[in-house]
Amino acid sequence: MSHDYPHLKLLIGGEWTPPHGQSDGREHEPVMNPASGVCLGVLPHASKADLDRALDAAEKAFPVWRGMSPQDRGKILKRAADLMHERAEHIARIATIEEGKTIHEARMETHISADTLEWYAEEGRRAYGRVLPQRTPGVRMTVMREPVGPVAAFAPWNFPVGNPCRKLGAALAAGCPCIMKPAEQTPASALEVARALMDAGLPKGVMSIVFGVPSQVSTHLLASPVIRKVSFTGSTRIGKQLMKLAADGMKRTTMELGGHAPVIVFDDVDVEHVLDLSAAAKFRNAGQVCVSPTRYYVHEKIYKQFVDGFAARARDWPVGDGLIEANKMGPLAHSLRLNAMEELLTDARKHGAHFDAGGSRIPGPGYFWEPTVLSEAPNEARIMNEEPFGPVAIINPFSDFDAVIKQANRLPYGLAAYAFTRSNRTVNLLGEQIEAGMIGINSYLISVRDSPFGGVKESGHGSEEGMEGLEACLVTKFVTES
Ligand code: NAD
Repeated sequence: MSHDYPHLKLLIGGEWTPPHGQSDGREHEPVMNPASGVCLGVLPHASKADLDRALDAAEKAFPVWRGMSPQDRGKILKRAADLMHERAEHIARIATIEEGKTIHEARMETHISADTLEWYAEEGRRAYGRVLPQRTPGVRMTVMREPVGPVAAFAPWNFPVGNPCRKLGAALAAGCPCIMKPAEQTPASALEVARALMDAGLPKGVMSIVFGVPSQVSTHLLASPVIRKVSFTGSTRIGKQLMKLAADGMKRTTMELGGHAPVIVFDDVDVEHVLDLSAAAKFRNAGQVCVSPTRYYVHEKIYKQFVDGFAARARDWPVGDGLIEANKMGPLAHSLRLNAMEELLTDARKHGAHFDAGGSRIPGPGYFWEPTVLSEAPNEARIMNEEPFGPVAIINPFSDFDAVIKQANRLPYGLAAYAFTRSNRTVNLLGEQIEAGMIGINSYLISVRDSPFGGVKESGHGSEEGMEGLEACLVTKFVTES
């Protein structure tokens, strides 16, 4: 057990439980530090009775919370954001020791997540309806926007502060209570977000935070008529399961699922500059990012320089415990990710992919994987079809524009895509032809608070952040009066 790691609790209807951080007879599981493999603490699982109490609290809190003005709700979100900024160093340290990412990334994530709450604090007041032009004298027709109702939210481990803030920010700003199940691998980060909201004055019952066996928690919550919306971030496989559960109760869904982002690099770019940006984007959070650049298609004229340059950067990339400031990449977040990487890379080797850098687990304690660069991987290799969710860049050459667009769009995924070129005409064609929810041209920065974040095809539907994020927690009501 670690002394600088908080006691883990559930938050049910405004009460932290069990009060002294023991599991009180509940099922529980250990939380590990992925950099050392050492146990950080013990996480209590919510019992069915806990989940029912959370549902009951959400149902009772709904009229209270939706009845508050958006300005007053916004004040609480803003205060929570301020608290998160103040506590950023403490929260970032927790995020690093339970997820593995570097402390620099964790600090940035904490401040950006606080900004997300702040942004929603403002946006909540813009849930505008409209009055339709009059057809008959004395008859008024109004379109109103109202909170959808209690939201069940499932947040993954890769952005342990950011994912909870996106989900809570949208629901709370819209006037919806939220029961959130953050990832069991990274509970304390989410609990710190919850603590900031409670300290900021969030009324009891508006938010509950539960943990458990994910399929059991989601099945229980989604079976309840109290829940009116489901928000999930995670794999496409689980997203489809939750869609099926949601269908039974005709619940609305926002699904932010997997990706396999293509990056097209044309021959008119400053190659070394694109390489610097690419290595930093690829090895961010050890590649465990849904919009991580993965399939590089590089023009044949600059292909060799690009592969050699990426491999050289990968070999020199400082990997180690994320708490050590000099490190630029930490471990994979949990031990199962090591097995997933092992399987994908063994298969890639079998299919004749060239290993230009890395490709193996780093021996010693912790779940470290070498920054890896592959080239000439055929489309038949699993890694060209399944999201690696690890620090692997795969680089293949291209010469023809139409052919590379076909490759970029080949997979059922459509989350992020990137391209580097100086040609305006190429930029316009890419914008028209690439099938993705977000496209970064000459940049990997595609996620900002006021822009919609979401995918198309099997990468999901609906957006988080931007006005679309608020919109997703509202329903439309038409009222006519004469
Ligand atoms: P996973 O699919 O088992 O879990 C992903 C997340 O979904 C976890 O947070 C987990 O708690 C949750 N989850 C799993 N089953 C659930 C259920 N039945 N009900 C509710 N929540 C459930 O896989 P993993 O090994 O943890 O992550 C690997 C894969 O997940 C990656 O390859 C990637 O595709 C995907 N993933 C995507 C994102 C993203 O940002 N889109 C984030 C994390 C993981």
